[in-house]
Amino acid sequence: MSDAPDTTLAVVSLGSNIEPRAQRLADALAALAAIPRTRVVKASSVRETEPVDVPEEFRGQRFLNQVVVCETALEAHDFLHRLQAIETEQGRVRGPVRNVPRTIDLDLVAFGDLVLDEPELTLPHPRARERAFVMEPLAEVLPGFVFPG
Ligand code: AMP
Repeated sequence: MSDAPDTTLAVVSLGSNIEPRAQRLADALAALAAIPRTRVVKASSVRETEPVDVPEEFRGQRFLNQVVVCETALEAHDFLHRLQAIETEQGRVRGPVRNVPRTIDLDLVAFGDLVLDEPELTLPHPRARERAFVMEPLAEVLPGFVFPG
């Protein structure tokens, strides 16, 4: 935590299951560090995980996942839009089918104590707590983290 009262701890989950996966995570981490009024506090190790909830034909494509903690002076929606811009820059195409292979996926797991239930932004992320690929690296970077709400 910083002394600055107007910053928020943002927990971001990164995932990629299209090669070069490690390079994509590294690029996304660099892009997170370049978000204005934001700094990266901590990044977990990178873990390889089985795909969860993905269509049958893509089950063989394993993910690399990582959790990154940022401190930001941006507002939550502005921060989300920055994450989406990073996804777009890295060539992610949003289609009608969810959970198909993706170059890079950036989810906002939590944003300080904020609890929101909007289609555009639900906080904490509604599926984070049931996903080992989020919870294990999260425990590594923020042991004892308690979800708000
Ligand atoms: P996905 O394709 O799984 O990355 O979902 C992206 C969609 O979920 C976008 O339309 C976002 O606006 C919405 N969304 C809602 N809550 C969140 C969140 N906490 N983090 C990232 N995207 C979110």
